[in-house]
Amino acid sequence: MNPGDATPVLAPLSPGPAAAEPLVRVRGLCKYFPIRAKGILGKVVATVRAVDDLHFDLHPGETLGLVGESGSGKTTAARCILRALSPTAGEVLFRTPSGATVDLAALPERALKPLRPHLQMIFQDPYSSLNPRMTVGEIVGEPLVIHRLGTRTEQEARVVDILRKVGLKAEHRTRYPHAFSGGQRQRIGIARALIMRPSFVVADEAVSALDVSVQAQVLNLLKDLQEEFKLTYLFVAHNLDVVRHFCDRVAVLYAGRMVELAPAAEIFSDPKHPYTRALLSAVPWPDPDVRLKFDVPGEIADPSRLPSGCAFHPRCPSCFGPCKTHRPKLQRLVDSSRQVACHLHFPPD
Ligand code: SF4
Repeated sequence: MNPGDATPVLAPLSPGPAAAEPLVRVRGLCKYFPIRAKGILGKVVATVRAVDDLHFDLHPGETLGLVGESGSGKTTAARCILRALSPTAGEVLFRTPSGATVDLAALPERALKPLRPHLQMIFQDPYSSLNPRMTVGEIVGEPLVIHRLGTRTEQEARVVDILRKVGLKAEHRTRYPHAFSGGQRQRIGIARALIMRPSFVVADEAVSALDVSVQAQVLNLLKDLQEEFKLTYLFVAHNLDVVRHFCDRVAVLYAGRMVELAPAAEIFSDPKHPYTRALLSAVPWPDPDVRLKFDVPGEIADPSRLPSGCAFHPRCPSCFGPCKTHRPKLQRLVDSSRQVACHLHFPPD
């Protein structure tokens, strides 16, 4: 972008859809990876069902935690929702700031490009996600250049503004990433994600690589920025203690499927699904009386050879008759906003 180019598009974006309407609706989202035999023909010999039939809504201004063991499909699901990966099936209905609804899963890349500013990601490893040969100013301002937003002067002003908002200084923009600590580098990554004023941000293990004391600072920053910019977060994490304090609702994934979805306070005080109870029992609670004694043997199910019925049944201490043959559906509990996929709560007909 050259100085003097007249593109006055750096005014704040519109506040987005009405609060009552979901910002994102995920319907039947699937991501399958074929496994091919070696050889020229490369016949498909198996399919990895990394994400299998997810349904949930994200409301403006909320933080939804996506949790599960490694291999549960949470990162793949988040990438499909942002269209960093193309889903195999399903819809990701996103309400744009103008109020229109678009299916991100079905859009061709050229139609996605103008929507990219509204959909951003904060990565786990701030160092590998920052180009070491670019200055902080270039890294943070690059999305403005790519999308040709504003004059060079306006872009620089916007970079300085967002650096200050994430707790960095204007003079930091001339330095390179290696000159910063891990926490500062994550602030640079956050500044880059937010400079386009997105409405929806996926934070993929955004504090996992940081020291505990720095984690708290970055989480507080993310909360403050959420309020200021009216952000909606999908927060992918394995640290349930962080999720408990940071998220409004929590979705639990097992082998690519959602097994429980509930307000964070309820899921942590009264988990309904046996797998959720197992996950919570692994958290080092500060109060030993709160810790649930629940041990689950075995490994997470292989997504290329999922067990019949409930995918959790080989590990579940509550497994009974229909669990081995009938796949439980995610259903809403009576008089509750909670949803659970388990025959203990919804016996099959
Ligand atoms: Fe356990 Fe059956 Fe519920 Fe699956 S459906 S979690 S096997 S009780």
